[in-house]
Amino acid sequence: MSNNLPKAVAVIGAGTMGNGIAQTFASCGVPTFMIDVQQDFVDRGLATVHKSLGKFVEKGTLTAEVAERTRKLLVGTTDKKHLAEVDLCIEAVTENLDVKTAVFRDADAALKPGAILASNTSSISITVLAARTRRADRVIGMHFMNPVPLMKLVEVIRGNDTSDATTDAVLAWSKALGKVPVPANDYPGFVANRILMPMINEAAFALMEGVATREAIDEIMKLGMNHPMGPLTLADFIGLDVCVSILDVLKDGLGDDKYRACPLLRRLVAAGHLGRKTKRGFYDYSQAK
Ligand code: NAD
Repeated sequence: MSNNLPKAVAVIGAGTMGNGIAQTFASCGVPTFMIDVQQDFVDRGLATVHKSLGKFVEKGTLTAEVAERTRKLLVGTTDKKHLAEVDLCIEAVTENLDVKTAVFRDADAALKPGAILASNTSSISITVLAARTRRADRVIGMHFMNPVPLMKLVEVIRGNDTSDATTDAVLAWSKALGKVPVPANDYPGFVANRILMPMINEAAFALMEGVATREAIDEIMKLGMNHPMGPLTLADFIGLDVCVSILDVLKDGLGDDKYRACPLLRRLVAAGHLGRKTKRGFYDYSQAK
């Protein structure tokens, strides 16, 4: 294990992002607790990690020994008592201020005084979350990208009172994980979503206004801008509900109507067509494996 990694980590939330973050730390040799509210959510997160490790071994990008060590180092639990054992806790629960505030309050009370409390939020203010704790200097954003084991970027967000020591530790730990940390300041949507979401929103407006078909919009952006996937395909991957809630944060936080979510995006969300996760969004995935 690298000296530049924390001795133990807790990840709160075993969903899409939480299990990927937990897998990433454990596969670098860090004892990791993955905590969720119900045992079946924990089990689902562990099953996802085990499947992912199996795929890496099959592809030859991970040895069977490292996969086995990772499984042993990753403890799935509903018990928050383990928070007292870690140097770094990363919150990856549902993108909702009330839910995150409650998690931050509990974690602040349970963590060691020196431990760093990070959030994987896509858009909620780090400063607001930090102000709910008694460790604002040790609160920071660690915005991993999906799928975490494959994506290199960690957007590292300094809140108003985040200390240099906290930022330096998180930058060093992220590098030791094999990621590329890039610092940003705490403004709505940070950098990634401030720039990505208006593009996705504009693609939805273009579709709504009949500028082109969904396939044409995606193909033009893919081939023309050298993007790996078109914006409507990407929106389905992220979740249309997630896109709308981030756009709402941008509009409210920046006070500018140019971030208003496209009515077509809102209509699809109202209909329950949230993208890949519901098998329908801009595209139909019901036949996909
Ligand atoms: P998800 O819905 O897949 O998982 C959230 C998990 O949090 C669920 O398992 C839920 O049971 C758990 N949870 C809720 N309340 C909890 C609590 N009080 N204690 C412990 N666990 C609790 O969500 P996700 O997509 O993994 O997103 C998590 C965070 O990561 C959000 O802040 C989101 O904005 C951010 N994010 C998501 C993506 C993405 O592509 N999905 C990318 C970057 C960042």
